[in-house]
Amino acid sequence: MKEEKYDIKSRNPAELTEFVTGLGEKSFRAKQIFDWLHAKQVSDFEEMKNLPKNLIQTLSRTCAPLSLKQETVQISEQDGTRKYLFMLPDGNRIESVLMRYRHGNAVCISSQAGCRMGCRFCASTQEGLARGLTPSEMLDQVYQIGKETGERVSSVVVMGIGEPLDNFDSFVRFTELLTHEDGLHLSQRNLTVSTCGLVPEIRKLAEYRFSLTLAVSLHAAVQEKRRQLIPVADRYPLPELMEACQYYFEQTGRRVTFEYSLIAGFNDAEADADALAGLLRGLRGGMRCHVNLIPVNPVRGRAFRQPHRAVVAAFKNKLEKNGINVTIRREMGRDIDGACGQLRRRYAQA
Ligand code: SAH
Repeated sequence: MKEEKYDIKSRNPAELTEFVTGLGEKSFRAKQIFDWLHAKQVSDFEEMKNLPKNLIQTLSRTCAPLSLKQETVQISEQDGTRKYLFMLPDGNRIESVLMRYRHGNAVCISSQAGCRMGCRFCASTQEGLARGLTPSEMLDQVYQIGKETGERVSSVVVMGIGEPLDNFDSFVRFTELLTHEDGLHLSQRNLTVSTCGLVPEIRKLAEYRFSLTLAVSLHAAVQEKRRQLIPVADRYPLPELMEACQYYFEQTGRRVTFEYSLIAGFNDAEADADALAGLLRGLRGGMRCHVNLIPVNPVRGRAFRQPHRAVVAAFKNKLEKNGINVTIRREMGRDIDGACGQLRRRYAQA
């Protein structure tokens, strides 16, 4: 049987110290390795110039690969968005996206290879879940894209393939490493995690008191409609979900974002906007929130259509009249399979 390789890039400083001292090395080697992995972000142990040769050899032999294999990158001619397809060591594929905004570069990463949540309008879940990504596989998407562009990554959103809170421990470790002061040191405030609404995990995450932004995929403010789009809504009905969001705000003081994909003729009527306004008015204790409207991205094999622009604008207006903070998400990279999971699916079918 093949020996399990040590996933050194997923380890925190305390674990690294234990690891190197176990190899008979001095503990300061752990700090050096952490610096190479997470500040300098090398992709090969050979580049770790201040380590002794024999330690480099041991690490090369016993540790898992440090970086993912980039298969393709598509560049949007419309807005410069870049979409990456990465191959994991076991042959699974994931996608990441670089979005260029006036205020900086945002990287959208995947948290799982596939997904088991089954949301009806989402391309990433159609073939089910292969597995959750390791913290290092999540980090490397950010590191590689940052290095390739040579520009600072100013924010990271975990909104690619997968349900991050269904890969909870890896996501927490990823957060710890990405925001570590001896690594890339992204501010926690510039990290957003999106969930389809796993209530126990939202509560668990709240207790870590990270300063990250929680985005909740709502898509309907009426339980009966929401469960038609998001199967886990059956397990975690709206009142419980809203209580968990409230708890997240109380624990972290962070404004919660609600994502709402507008689907023509399904959840885009005035009554739907009223229902959403009513739901958010029910939030207590000065809880701050924000609504992000996303005209649904058509997915092959599904009949969902985007509402007309005027309908989207009317929906937004209605919310604003109710004092709700709302933005329409600008679509990026439509010409390059911009929506989650679509590039990977095309490859899987090719
Ligand atoms: N599993 C997490 C994060 C990944 S999906 C979640 O559900 O939030 C990121 C966002 O894209 C979610 O709000 C999801 O509902 C939305 N999304 C997925 N497919 C979409 C599509 N075809 N059109 C518009 N939004 C979509």
